[in-house]
Amino acid sequence: MSVTPLMTQYAKIKANYPDTILLFRVGDFFETFEEDAKLASKVLGITLTKRANGAAGDVPLAGFPHHAIDSYLPKLVRSGYRVAICEQLEDPKFAKGIVKRDVIEIVTPGVTTSDKILDHKKNNYLLSIYIENEIAGLAFVDISTGEFQVFEVSENNFTQQLENIHPSEILIPKKHKNFLEQKIQKILPSTRITKIDDWIYDFNYGNDLLINHFNIKTLKGFGIENYKNGICAAGSALNYLKETQKTNLNHINKISRYNPSDFMILDFSTKRNLEITFTIQGGEREGSLISILDKTETSMGGRLLKKWITSPLRKLEPILQRQSCIDEFVNNKIVRQNIKNELKEIGDIERLASKVCTGRINPREIVLLKNSFKKIPLIKQILDQSTNEFITSINVKLNPLSEIVELIENAINDDPPISLSDSDVIKNGYNKELDELRNISSNAKNWIAELQKSERERTRIPSLKVSYNKVFGYYIEISNAHKDKIPDNYIRKQTLVNSERYITPELKEYEDKILNAHENILNLEFKIFEEVRNEIVKHVEEIQENAKLIATLDCFQSFAECAVEYNYCKPELNESDAIEIIEGRHPVVERILSPSEKFTPNDCKLSSSENQIIILTGPNMAGKSVYLRQIGLIVLLAQIGSFVPATKASIGLVDRIFTRVGASDNISAGESTFLVEMQEAANILNNATSKSLILLDEIGRGTSTFDGISIAWAITEYLHDNPLLQAKTLFATHYHELNEMADIFPRIKNYKVEVREYGDKVIFLHKVSEGFADHSYGIQVAQMAGLPTFVTKRAKEILANLESKELTPYEMKKVKIAKQKQTDELQINLFEIKDDSIRKEISEIPIDDLTPIQALNKLNELKKKI
Ligand code: ADP
Repeated sequence: MSVTPLMTQYAKIKANYPDTILLFRVGDFFETFEEDAKLASKVLGITLTKRANGAAGDVPLAGFPHHAIDSYLPKLVRSGYRVAICEQLEDPKFAKGIVKRDVIEIVTPGVTTSDKILDHKKNNYLLSIYIENEIAGLAFVDISTGEFQVFEVSENNFTQQLENIHPSEILIPKKHKNFLEQKIQKILPSTRITKIDDWIYDFNYGNDLLINHFNIKTLKGFGIENYKNGICAAGSALNYLKETQKTNLNHINKISRYNPSDFMILDFSTKRNLEITFTIQGGEREGSLISILDKTETSMGGRLLKKWITSPLRKLEPILQRQSCIDEFVNNKIVRQNIKNELKEIGDIERLASKVCTGRINPREIVLLKNSFKKIPLIKQILDQSTNEFITSINVKLNPLSEIVELIENAINDDPPISLSDSDVIKNGYNKELDELRNISSNAKNWIAELQKSERERTRIPSLKVSYNKVFGYYIEISNAHKDKIPDNYIRKQTLVNSERYITPELKEYEDKILNAHENILNLEFKIFEEVRNEIVKHVEEIQENAKLIATLDCFQSFAECAVEYNYCKPELNESDAIEIIEGRHPVVERILSPSEKFTPNDCKLSSSENQIIILTGPNMAGKSVYLRQIGLIVLLAQIGSFVPATKASIGLVDRIFTRVGASDNISAGESTFLVEMQEAANILNNATSKSLILLDEIGRGTSTFDGISIAWAITEYLHDNPLLQAKTLFATHYHELNEMADIFPRIKNYKVEVREYGDKVIFLHKVSEGFADHSYGIQVAQMAGLPTFVTKRAKEILANLESKELTPYEMKKVKIAKQKQTDELQINLFEIKDDSIRKEISEIPIDDLTPIQALNKLNELKKKI
C-alpha cells in the first residue's frame, strides 16, 4: 500500500516516540494523527477530522494553529501526557522534496521549563526509582531549578518518601512494572508513571553518564559512590532529561545526597488531616496552613517555604539555627521590612538560570535577571547590620555578580521585546557593526541624499542624481551633457536617450547593506544575545547559590512577619520527651473566625513518662478536632524553626506526627471507611516510636459500638503498654467508656472540652480541662443543627428509655472487659489448680482400694465441688 510521503515521514518519526503525543508541524499548524489525534481532540476539545493518506485511506487528524501551542501544550502535559514537538527544520520555500522535520523537545509532566506548565510556588520533580536486594534507590531532579538529589531507603519505606517528594512523574524499570506501578498508584494516583528500558538502569551505564555529565572522575566528591541502586536511578533520570531536552543541561551541575532521616515524615494522611498545603474539603491551598504562613515575596522563597513546611526537621541544631534567624528578623522591624522591599523586585532567578542554560531565556527575562542582581548589593547593605552568625554567612556568600550586571546593562536594552525575532534587543553603542547596520537601515535616505550632494560637488555636475529601481538597485544618473566629467570609478550600467546610469563599488556595497540590513541586524542581535547568554552560563553556579540564599532570607522574613502579625511566641526546643504548650491556638482557625468570635487558647501537657495518652471527650462541635490539630501544627511549626501560636511552648522533638482523622475520601476508591480507618491505625501501630506524636480523632466508628469500643480500647492499651511505642498520644473520642482507662493505666489521662448547658441548649466554651464529659449532648447539637423538633423530641424519649435499663452499654462493656481479663488469666494459669482442698482430697484417695463404681462416684462428688 503506498502512503503519502508526509505520512511516511510522520510514521518514521512517530516510531521513535511511543507512549508520546507527537505534535507534527505542517506549515502553520501542529497536527496530530491516528491515536494521538483521538486523544488530543478529547483532551483539548479540538475537532477530530481525517486526512487523506494515499492508497492507505484516511487517517484521523486533529490540529491547531502553531501559535496556539502555548495554550494547548500545557493542557496536554497537565493531563499527564508526554508530548514531543516535531518542528520543520528548514524553510519550506527552500526545501527540496519533503521538508526536513525532527523532534526538538519532549515535554513531560516531570520535565519542563515552561512557565505555562509550572507552578511558581512549587518544585516540579521527576523521580526515578530502582529496587534490588530490598533496597530502593531514588533520585529526584527538578530541571526548572537544577536541583538533583539521590538517596537509598529500605524497600519497605520507599512509598513514604514518594509521598514526601510528591513528584510529577516517576520513572520505573520495565521489569518492575507490575509490582511498582500498583504501589505507586495507590499513593500518588495522579502522578505519571513512565516505564524505562531495563538496560538504562544498568549501574555502569548510569555511573558513566553521571561522571561524564558532571565532568568528574568519580562520584566520591558528591558522597554518593556507595548508593548502588541510587546511582542506577540517578543515571536513568539524567538519561531521561537528556533524551527529552535535547539541549544543554549545564545548570544541573551537582547531585547531592538527600538524607531522609533529617526530616520528619509527614505521610499523605497527616498532610491532609493537618491541612498543611491543602484543605481536606476541596483540596484548595486557600484555608490551609501554608496559605496563612506564606508571606514570601519571591517565587524561590515560596518554593522553599513549601519545602520547609512539608519537611519539618528532626535535628535540634539546624532548627535552632533557623529559629535564631527568624528571631533576628522578628526583633528588627527595619531590617525585616527593608529586606522585604528589596525582595519584592527580585525575579525567579533560580528558574531563569535554568532557562539561560537550556537556551530558553528571552531578552526581557535577561533584563529581569539583571534587575534582580542589582538588588543584591542593597540586600548586603541591610544584612551588614546583623550580628547573627548564620545571616552573616548568607551575607558573605551573596554574590552581587557585578560583571554580569554590567554586561547585561551594556548589551541589552532596558526594555527589550520579549522575542528575539524582533530587533532592538541589543543596546546602541554595544557593537560597532550593529550600530552601523542600524544606521544604514534608518539613515538610508539621508545617506543617498548625502552621497548625491557629495558626488555633485566632487564631479561638479549639478544635475547628478542618485536613484533606485528594482532591476538595477541603486544607480547614479548623469545627463549626456556632462558625459565628459564622469569620474573613473563610475561603471556604466545602462544607456538611455538623454542620460546614462552608473554604479560605483561603494554604492553597491551600501546597497547590499541596506537591502540586507534588516536580516543582518536580526542575525547579529541573535549572535550577540547568544554571547551574552553564554557569558551568563559561566556563572550559573553563583546564580543558583544566590537564588538559594535569597529564598532562605525570604523564608526568614516571611516566618518573622507571621510571628509578629499573628502574635506567635518563640518555642523552646529540646531533646526531651515532653511537650508543654501554654495558651496554644490553631494557626488557621484563629484567623478565619469571624471578628465576633474569639479563639479560646488551650494548654497541653504531654510526656512519655506521665501524660502519655490523653483521652479527650466532649460533644460534637466542642472543639476536639481543632485542639488535636493545633497541637500537631504547633509541634510541626516549632520543628520548621518557626514561632508558634501560643504564649509559651516547650517542645521535645518528635520524629513523626501520625494522624487518624475521619476517612471519607477513600470511599470513592472502593474502600470502606472502616477499612481505611483500620489501615491507618495499623500504619500507626506498626511505625510509631516513643518519639512520635499520635493524633487520633475517633477510632472504630465505622463498626458496631461494642466492636468500636473494644478496638479503641485495645489500641490505646497497646500504645500504653508496648515499651517500644509509648508514643505521646491525643485521642479524641465519643466512647466515654475509655475514660475508665485512666484508672487502670498510669500514663493515661482524661481531658474534656467544656460545654455549658443552658436550658435546652449547649454553649461551647472550647476550653480543654482535666476530667471527662459525662454527656454527649448529641441531641442538643442535632437540634441546633436544625433537625425537626419531632425527631429530637422522640430521640430524647428513646434515650431516656435506654438510660433507665439495668445494664447500660457502658456497664455491659465493663462486664465484658472484666470477663475477658478473667479468661486471659485462666489461660495463663491453665495448669495451676487453685482450690487446695480439692487437691488435698484427690491426693488422699486410696485408688488401689476403690472399686470402679466407687471411683466413679468419687469423681462425680469432686466434680460437684468445682
Ligand atoms: P469537634 O471535633 O469536637 O466536633 P471541632 O474541633 O471540629 O469540634 O470544632 C468545631 C468548631 O468550633 C470549629 O469549626 C471552630 O469554629 C470552633 N472552635 C473549635 N475550637 C475552638 C476554640 N478553641 N476557640 C474558638 N472556636 C473554636
